[in-house]
Amino acid sequence: MKKALFLDRDGVINIDRGYVGKIEDFEFVDGVLDLIYEAQKRGYIPIVVTNQSGIGRGYYSGEDFEKLTSWMVRKMRERGIVIDRSHIFFCPHRPDEGCECRKPMPGMFREAQERFGIDMAASWMIGDKPGDIEAAKRAGVGHTYLTERNRRIDIKELHGL
Ligand SMILES: [Mg+2]
Ligand SMILES: [Zn+2]
Repeated sequence: MKKALFLDRDGVINIDRGYVGKIEDFEFVDGVLDLIYEAQKRGYIPIVVTNQSGIGRGYYSGEDFEKLTSWMVRKMRERGIVIDRSHIFFCPHRPDEGCECRKPMPGMFREAQERFGIDMAASWMIGDKPGDIEAAKRAGVGHTYLTERNRRIDIKELHGL
């Protein structure tokens, strides 16, 4: 079974400026591509799990999100990371819709688990909000790391990864 490095997007992969829906507003957090690359070398497949209520709120469209996602995936691949669109899970709903995918609910993790056959206990989740960590734990992810929003993470902080 494969192990995964689950990552929140806004605040972990890119600078969270609030409802980032366009390429021009997307800036990678310093060092994050190196972190993902190194984790992949250690056998973790990268999976992005992101709440995107900006879609449900009408701040940007699903099409905007897909455009931005293609761009982000391309940048990751240019860095040598093996990833494609199927590794990206998003929840487009507003909090009041009560869906099963918006973190802290575990829906996106379960979907990823099923799609890739992931060993959840051996996997990691990095998030910048308590709800990221809660969702991961509900899905049985064995290792979690709560970082501060927009902060560079050194792989050495992830003990045992
Ligand atoms: Mg976040
Ligand atoms: Zn949802």
